[in-house]
Amino acid sequence: MPFDAAPIRDPSQRKAYPQSVAGPFRRTKTALSSLILGLFHLGPWLRWDRGAGFPDQAVLLDLDRGRGWLPGAVLWPDEVYHLVGLLIAAAIALFGVSALYGRVWCGFTCPQTVWTELFVRIEALLEGDRNARMKLDQAPWTVAKLARKAAKHLLWLILAVVTGASWTFWFVDAPTAAHAFLTLSAGPWMWTSLLVIAASTYLLGGLTREKFCVYMCPWARIQTAMGDLSTRSITYDAARGEPRGKARAGGPPMGDCIDCTLCVRVCPTGTDIRAGYSVSCINCGLCADACAPVMRKLGRPTGLIAFAAAAEAEAEAAARAERTYALTPTAPARPSTRTPPRRRLSAKGVISAAAVTGILLLMAGVFALRPSLTVAAQQERSPVAVALADGRVRNGYRLNLSNRTLAPATYVITAEGVDGAELRNPAEDETGQTLRVAVAADSTQTVRLFVTAPDGAGGNRPLHLRIQDAGTGEVAMAETVFSLLKH
Ligand code: SF4
Ligand code: SF4
Repeated sequence: MPFDAAPIRDPSQRKAYPQSVAGPFRRTKTALSSLILGLFHLGPWLRWDRGAGFPDQAVLLDLDRGRGWLPGAVLWPDEVYHLVGLLIAAAIALFGVSALYGRVWCGFTCPQTVWTELFVRIEALLEGDRNARMKLDQAPWTVAKLARKAAKHLLWLILAVVTGASWTFWFVDAPTAAHAFLTLSAGPWMWTSLLVIAASTYLLGGLTREKFCVYMCPWARIQTAMGDLSTRSITYDAARGEPRGKARAGGPPMGDCIDCTLCVRVCPTGTDIRAGYSVSCINCGLCADACAPVMRKLGRPTGLIAFAAAAEAEAEAAARAERTYALTPTAPARPSTRTPPRRRLSAKGVISAAAVTGILLLMAGVFALRPSLTVAAQQERSPVAVALADGRVRNGYRLNLSNRTLAPATYVITAEGVDGAELRNPAEDETGQTLRVAVAADSTQTVRLFVTAPDGAGGNRPLHLRIQDAGTGEVAMAETVFSLLKH
């Protein structure tokens, strides 16, 4: 029964030796792992021409310049909320998927699973499949064993270092960073990034492996709380499989499980799914892949191990109580007692999908309407207002004009809300009703601005500084006040 007290795998097992297996879940895992690894390692090498003076890496989280370079867009540090929105949408999607299908994130896409599989593949390449690896570990130390183990750890280290380098390439232009690493001219933080990720990869993927998923990962415990009777997880059809073992002539009736233990041997966490739901099961489906050919060989229906909901398991128990089978070794195959999966909309699925879609649509709208020009104005405080010889009053301001495009821009500044206001740019010695300021591409320029107007009663008056891009016509407003001397 899923969600009962959750036994974890036999603690006497110091290490899992997963056996290779073929099947649809295996193929899905391989395809997803290849996609994730391909994106991670090759992503930084994709190029995107932004013109001279700008990085040509398609996706670059440029910590030096404080920019997130994306194809066709540049994110500034104050736009980090786009990333936050994306993470929130991903978290809701993960909660929704976990509520519907248990730990499929763990079994198919979690980096711990993906990288652990790579390490196990390297191990299998050098030491053989499960039985050969177990035999080698139990054998006394010889030069040949030492050589194999050393070669394995060397390949593991290379994989860990390549992973650390690829991680760094997302933050520093990949060809530049690769050259810096190869010529040992990389800076301290680049080395730190590479070594920290390489050490974590080697430790978690090579040495800790499935123990991280079983004993350390908090997600295993958190996601258990999200499941209910409708959550579909990999389960063993005990009503059909038990009593397990090979049927003998004249012996008692037996279930469909012949106790070949293939499902346990292929399990990457060493779990025996036949013992019921376990927190050590990452829902990868490999045990189902292992069992299906056994059933086919016996001429029995597949699905003895399959994705099923606890509600179905309850139905199985009820069916088992009602039914009596006259099993003999020659009896026809016992039919599956699982209730067929009901195609119905799950509230959790609908709510999660609606929330994720809503957030993504909102983010897409906010992203599409991002301004390419932003402005902030700060009134100078000492003094706030200066009386001029002609009887007028002058206030000083600091304007921060940010040109978020990859081309230089000219901005036209006008003052609104204060009658007779005249603008002056002291740096350029320009005066007039409007001022023009050139701002370089992808940069912020601070402009000192004087606003002069006739004095009058009334204290402070709202001052609206209007900045218009002369090229595109885009307008940004800065709200501030104009201070008078007569109160
Ligand atoms: S693979 Fe299938 S038949 Fe073999 S032990 Fe597991 S459940 Fe039983
Ligand atoms: S019990 Fe089956 S689904 Fe669970 S981790 Fe092991 S192989 Fe994967």
